[in-house]
Amino acid sequence: MRFDEHTETLISERLNQIKDRIGEAAASSGRDPSEIILIAATKTQNDDVIKTALNTGKINAAGENRVQEFQNHLETGAYLNYPVHFIGHLQTNKLKFVVGKVALIHSVDSIHLAKEIAKQASKMSITQDVLLEINTAREDSKFGFLLEELPQVISEIAILKNIRIRGIMAIPPKQEESGQNIPYFERLRQVFIDIKTKKYDNVCMDYLSMGMSDDYFDAIICGSNMVRLGTALFGKREA
Ligand SMILES: *Cc1c(COP(=O)(O)O)cnc(C)c1O
Repeated sequence: MRFDEHTETLISERLNQIKDRIGEAAASSGRDPSEIILIAATKTQNDDVIKTALNTGKINAAGENRVQEFQNHLETGAYLNYPVHFIGHLQTNKLKFVVGKVALIHSVDSIHLAKEIAKQASKMSITQDVLLEINTAREDSKFGFLLEELPQVISEIAILKNIRIRGIMAIPPKQEESGQNIPYFERLRQVFIDIKTKKYDNVCMDYLSMGMSDDYFDAIICGSNMVRLGTALFGKREA
C-alpha cells in the first residue's frame, strides 16, 4: 500500500476488525484470543507501512516471502524489534541469508531443504525452528508435502540436529465461496493432533499455521493458532 497521512488510521481500523474476528473465532473454538498468533504478510510492502503496522503492538511477527525483501527490510530496521517468520518458498542457495535470522521458517517443503537448513544452522551453532508445509489440496502449482508422506518425512527430519519441527503450515486453494476450505482445515487439524499424539522425539507440535485474509475465521474455528494476513491488513497488493 502507498504510505500517506491516512495509512496509520487505515491500518489501525483494519486491525481492530481483524482482532474482533480473531477474538470471535477463538471464543467459538473455546480458546483465548491471545493464543492466536497474528502474522503480517508483508510481501511488496514498504518500510513505512510495515513499521506502522508493527507499531500498533497488535501483530506478533512479520511474515516474509522473498529473501531479497527480507534482507532490505532487515537492513533498514523495518521490523523494529519484532520477530520475522519466513513464509515463502525457499531455495537452498539463499539459506545463508535466512537461517538464524528468522524465528520460524513455515515453508519446509522437501527433505533436501530440511537437511540444508540443518547444515547451515549447525555452522552457526543454533537450532532453527521450522514448520512442514503441506499441499493439502494436492495442487500441482503448490509446494509442500502430501499428507500421506508425512510419517516418513517426519521420521527423516526429526533425527536431524540443529533443526526442530514446531508444527505444520498449509495454503489451501484461493477461496471462491465462503466455507470452501473448511474440509481442508479440519483434515489439517486432525493430522496436527495425530502427530502431536505420537510424541516423536525432537518434534514439538505447537503451531498450526493456516488461514489467510479470505479464510482466517474458518481456519481458527478449525483449530489454527497462527494466521498470516496480507490483504486484510494492507489492502489489495499493487505489485
Ligand atoms: C501472501 C501470503 C499470505 C497472505 O495472503 P493474503 O491473502 O493477502 O492474506 C499468507 N501466506 C503466504 C505464504 C503468503 O505468501
